[in-house]
Amino acid sequence: MKALVYHGPGKIALEERPTPSIEKATDAVIRITKTTICGTDLHILKGDVPEVTEGRILGHEGVGVVVSTGSAVTNFKKGDHVIISCITSCGKCRYCKQGMYSHCTDGGWILGHLIDGTQAQYVRIPHADNSLYHIPEGLDEEALVLLSDILPTGFECGVLNGQVQPGEIVAIVGSGPIGLASLLTAQFYSPAKIIMIDVDANRLDVASKFGATDTINSSYENAVERVKELTEGFGANTVIEAVGVPQTFELCQFLVAPGGRIANIGVHGAKADLHLETLWAHNITITTRLVDTVTTPMLLKTIAAKKLKAEQLITHHFSLNNISNAYNTFSKAAEQRALKVIITNDEKLTHEVEHANRKTSLVGVD
Ligand SMILES: [Zn+2]
Ligand SMILES: [Zn+2]
Repeated sequence: MKALVYHGPGKIALEERPTPSIEKATDAVIRITKTTICGTDLHILKGDVPEVTEGRILGHEGVGVVVSTGSAVTNFKKGDHVIISCITSCGKCRYCKQGMYSHCTDGGWILGHLIDGTQAQYVRIPHADNSLYHIPEGLDEEALVLLSDILPTGFECGVLNGQVQPGEIVAIVGSGPIGLASLLTAQFYSPAKIIMIDVDANRLDVASKFGATDTINSSYENAVERVKELTEGFGANTVIEAVGVPQTFELCQFLVAPGGRIANIGVHGAKADLHLETLWAHNITITTRLVDTVTTPMLLKTIAAKKLKAEQLITHHFSLNNISNAYNTFSKAAEQRALKVIITNDEKLTHEVEHANRKTSLVGVD
């Protein structure tokens, strides 16, 4: 099969690899139909995630069709259409019993990280019974790729942890795909205002179309002063951090109203200051979380009912053969106006074409 393989920082290639097979009774093998690239994959390419070793097939998001199941898999059978969760979970360990699938003692985020991932024609999914979700008939499968990771991440880590309330004010720092996923799902709770803050004018335009009541371009506006103006001087009740650098986490601390919540989503690679000299008396809560994907079934229902229009986040399409171009586009997201790129596993390829493509496309990411 064809697969996108990591060869150390800055190097990936589309290569021929053995098709995965069942290794444990709880496994399933899925033929990928659609997958995508995540900001986390770009972190891996930069060498920020050293546990990803050379030869690893990347990707932790996707939808597909079950081709085989181990003898212990009871919820899925050959031919079922499924969403693959970015989090693998056994459903039985102490963390899974608490709904904290992200910390499963035999799973968590392992796809495209510690085991081979979804940017391929086929993928092996351990603990299939708890790590896959059935796709109801008649749904547009493409938009459901966003249920693997970014929608549950924006919702669980941002909206749920930030306790977004009707009539209150939400500020979201970062208007990339994850911040936008929080913006879309925060609207389940009818907050009075959702203020989006970013440095990219295009992403703020998108945010306005997706329901932001106010946008702040912090490259030339003072975000703290503007949020004060928009909140009668109080600040925001929920502040969601969707970037993952020290400056944005610090900014959140100056935007939150007394009694408010700061919900961190960002993946932080460096320590950040905590302004306890001010915040000690402000009755605030700070939360962190790795997505557990426990809300995926609920989010799937909201998409099926057309309450959540996930497809809005999709901006580009590529075939698996062109996945290097997909990486190039996604790595220049601002310039290319890219949010989520969909990669389709097109099966019409002949063996000759596959062979010709075998040695192609080492691509560098800046
Ligand atoms: Zn991801
Ligand atoms: Zn578990």
